[in-house]
Amino acid sequence: MATKKQYKIIVLGAQGSGKGTQADLLSEKLEIPAVSMGDLLREEKRKKTQKAKEIASYIDNGLLVPYKITIDLIKKAIKKNKKGIIIDGFPRNMEQATVFDKFFKPTHIIFIKISEKETIRRLAGRRNCPKCRKIYHVTFNPPKKKDICDRCRAKLIRRKDDTPEAIKKRLEIFNKITKPVVKYYKKKYGLIKIGGENSIKKVHEKIMKKLSK
Ligand code: AMP
Repeated sequence: MATKKQYKIIVLGAQGSGKGTQADLLSEKLEIPAVSMGDLLREEKRKKTQKAKEIASYIDNGLLVPYKITIDLIKKAIKKNKKGIIIDGFPRNMEQATVFDKFFKPTHIIFIKISEKETIRRLAGRRNCPKCRKIYHVTFNPPKKKDICDRCRAKLIRRKDDTPEAIKKRLEIFNKITKPVVKYYKKKYGLIKIGGENSIKKVHEKIMKKLSK
């Protein structure tokens, strides 16, 4: 009997590249969980703790959350998902990448490329389900009923860091701090590079084609 392939995938890309959406689609197809560092942090942020307040002060201003908080969260997630995992939004700086590389050896790194103009267009219209985390866009991927999640019926929200000021800061961080991580992984493992400006379905199909090679 053929054994099921074990996938340990990292999805990299700028804000609005669609990495969260693609990680979720891959998760359904490959039947392994997609873990988003942004979601893990937002979950922590909702708790009534001092740490939650600290996390909010970074996220809401478009800044990276301190290393120690993120590394603890990712370690827990990996321990829980030993049979395969898709990681979205981690690592995002070289400090995270060098430590992470010591205990997580990816089978594939997917890099979704997108222009800055498209990023801004997408993030400005993005809506999120606070309950099941499904991601929508008011024009390109709207819910069937305005502002209501198709999957769980919760009222959609607009993220606090999807404001023009926070978007600008997040893009600066991606260009200065996360790009070296992309380079590092490219050199070490090679990248599956995908143009992210096609439709969600097309990008997904392209990724699946490359993964099956
Ligand atoms: P995302 O949902 O991936 O757009 O992430 C939203 C926000 O969460 C980022 O702007 C950061 O404030 C924080 N965040 C996500 N991933 C990381 C990470 N690897 N390191 C530090 N902060 C992060």
